Amino acid sequence: MRHIQDLYGSLAQKRKIVVTFHQKPDGDAMGSALGLYHFLIQFGHEVTVVCPTNWAGFLNWMPGTDKVLDFDHKKEAATLKMKEADWIFCLDFNTPARTKNMEPVLREVSAKKILIDHHQQPLVEFFDYGISNVDKSSTAEMVYDFIEDSGNDSKINSAIAQCLYAGVMTDTGSFRFPSTTASVHLMVARLMQTGFDHSKVHENLFDNFLENRFRFFGNTLLHRMEVFYEYNTALISIPQHDLIKFNIQTGDTEGLVNFPLSIRGIKLAAIIIDRGDERKSSFRSKGEFDVNRFARKYFNGGGHPNAAGGRNTEPLDEVVKIFKRALKENESLLA
Ligand code: 5GP
Ligand code: MN
Repeated sequence: MRHIQDLYGSLAQKRKIVVTFHQKPDGDAMGSALGLYHFLIQFGHEVTVVCPTNWAGFLNWMPGTDKVLDFDHKKEAATLKMKEADWIFCLDFNTPARTKNMEPVLREVSAKKILIDHHQQPLVEFFDYGISNVDKSSTAEMVYDFIEDSGNDSKINSAIAQCLYAGVMTDTGSFRFPSTTASVHLMVARLMQTGFDHSKVHENLFDNFLENRFRFFGNTLLHRMEVFYEYNTALISIPQHDLIKFNIQTGDTEGLVNFPLSIRGIKLAAIIIDRGDERKSSFRSKGEFDVNRFARKYFNGGGHPNAAGGRNTEPLDEVVKIFKRALKENESLLA
């Protein structure tokens, strides 16, 4: 993988470009991609944003979401765009497997693949150009660095600012995680100079849910959470019939895993959700416990040291057993 700065010189040559990111995107994946989109179109490039799957409704306020192609639903159109592309920017993921059903197409097309990502252990041989930095708060911050370092500060507009702000806000837990460095705040100051309404971004992302989601949260915390004080750990496991009963949609479970982390003394919070086709897990930790390693070892996943996820094919009760065995094996790190 060559360094991304090798592209700066030819950034203005007109190209067909696809921007993509990991399946079931969060605010950082969608925000960094749309921020990059609003930057690249200013050069006259033909830019298409392709999302591997559907996405949560709370992202729909971002400028440009109406033009995003959902690969799962518009497979032919999305595949054609990827085949025609000269460049494919791959944002907020470290391995093509994170694009789910899109992986074979991403592997097969001849476009140059350009990585911008902050996850651990990237598959660098897959990408032609790129930058990977696990110390960065968010992919949104890395897109901002890309714009600045390539000498294009003057192209930062309100659309870019809103999208990148949403990305960095998502991945820093609203500017609270240790990854919230001085450079994050300097970037936010620059973005705010475009005059966008940052309070509205918070409102759009966090105050835009339906009642059923809160009833579901209440039910989950009351009936589906186990606390293992001997391991300073809390686990939430959600059967598929709960999702059906409360009409839970993509994105509605976002943030649920953080609740048990607010219990005094809890170092590891986990959630395992039976989505029908797979058991999706999320892990969050405070301090030293490395959930990236934990998710890789037991749950076919990965992520960051304090936030990671994975997926299993076993039934829910089996995955819960795997989790409990994993706690025992990691007793010395958790106790
Ligand atoms: P979440 O728990 O919110 O789905 O994801 C937390 C972090 O772990 C994110 O940075 C996400 O990209 C990463 N992650 C989630 N699921 C997986 C997975 O199945 N594999 C890998 N490698 N990373 C994941
Ligand atoms: Mn991210």
